[in-house]
Amino acid sequence: MPTTSTQSPFAIRTKETLGTLAAAGQMKILQTLDSPMDATVTMIDEDGSRHERICMCSNNYLGLANHPDVVEAGIEALRTYGAGTASVRFICGTFAPHHILEKTIAEYMGTEASYTFVSCWNATEALFPTCCEAGDIIISDELNHACIIDSMRLTPVIKKGVKKGIYKHSDMDSVKEVLEKAKNNPEVTGQIWLITDGIFSMEGDIANLPELRKLCDEYNALLVVDDSHAHGVLGTTGRGTHEHYNMCPGAPGFDASLGTIDIFTGTLGKGLGGGAGGFIAASQQLIDLIIQRGRPTLFSNALPVTVAASANTAIRTLINEPQRVQKLKDITKYCREQIKNETDFDVLESPTAICPIIVGPTERAIAMSKQLLEHNIFVIGFGFPVVPEGEARLRIQMSAAHTKEHVSQLVEALKKL
Ligand SMILES: *Cc1c(COP(=O)(O)O)cnc(C)c1O
Repeated sequence: MPTTSTQSPFAIRTKETLGTLAAAGQMKILQTLDSPMDATVTMIDEDGSRHERICMCSNNYLGLANHPDVVEAGIEALRTYGAGTASVRFICGTFAPHHILEKTIAEYMGTEASYTFVSCWNATEALFPTCCEAGDIIISDELNHACIIDSMRLTPVIKKGVKKGIYKHSDMDSVKEVLEKAKNNPEVTGQIWLITDGIFSMEGDIANLPELRKLCDEYNALLVVDDSHAHGVLGTTGRGTHEHYNMCPGAPGFDASLGTIDIFTGTLGKGLGGGAGGFIAASQQLIDLIIQRGRPTLFSNALPVTVAASANTAIRTLINEPQRVQKLKDITKYCREQIKNETDFDVLESPTAICPIIVGPTERAIAMSKQLLEHNIFVIGFGFPVVPEGEARLRIQMSAAHTKEHVSQLVEALKKL
């Protein structure tokens, strides 16, 4: 007798997995939005009711997701180029907006060249499996983003003999130890790669790039920074974590003696327009290798041209209106002060726009996030396994689109919890 689908091993075990999550109150709900992403959004709840809520869980740091110029650029590109080439770039070519965007990204990040992907996830999975060879080692911060972890898992499958090393979060002694071990490992005969997030998204803390640069120089390692959360946020002109440390060529305050970052991965799906898309920004030589040999570039379509045009306009807007970055810093500072002074909660300090309030148990964070929705504040609670048990948190994320009035409403809601 053929197995019916509900009796397949997959169906049986999945029913159990989903049942366990539901029983533990850990089912994620995909909220429905019926408006653009902005300081406030219109949400449709499960009972069909509509609510206008202040959104403080988006990475729309500069409020560019619904900027009229960003929207118009996408519409114009759709009119001019249609949906896409229906092929990969090396076969059917590249639309002009992709070339323009890649020049803009390189200028913005302060690198020689860049290449775009449908996501930063995709960019990261292109980077290591393409660039590493047997005898190389990839060294990573233990708290790096999931796409880095998965790219490191994938690399030795595609390129046998690539090694891995993990160091304790932002611990420079641990970095040195892992580098020293790599140097003394007779199987490490090639390139050492060291990768870190620029901003770590759960705490909002930032990587110590000047120290990492020094250590990488000492061990002839290439330094890779995934700066996804830092675009539009850090540095006077919002170029990222490297600008924060005066390590961004072309940006104000650049100090060549500190050195520069060899390779960046980044996203267009956060501060830089928020549509989707990712990139590698690096030397022309590395980008050329990615174009010739990267599996995600050879076998998968380009970023949609509408998104390429929107993202280019978002970055241009940021470059032309750096005051947006200061506005974000000011409103974030104000929000932290208000939470500390006006409520019983404490908020983690950092130079970023991520303001986590640690609340303890996972259920508490989830319950508080639900209560905040009733007060028309949209903030997400993160618990185990995304963060350690007992350190669940409400992660408030600020945007240049927020006003002091929005912060007051948040504070009033927090007081009522
Ligand atoms: C958000 C994020 C990503 C994923 O970006 P996508 O473009 O959505 O794939 C990758 N790395 C870091 C550090 C991120 O914060």
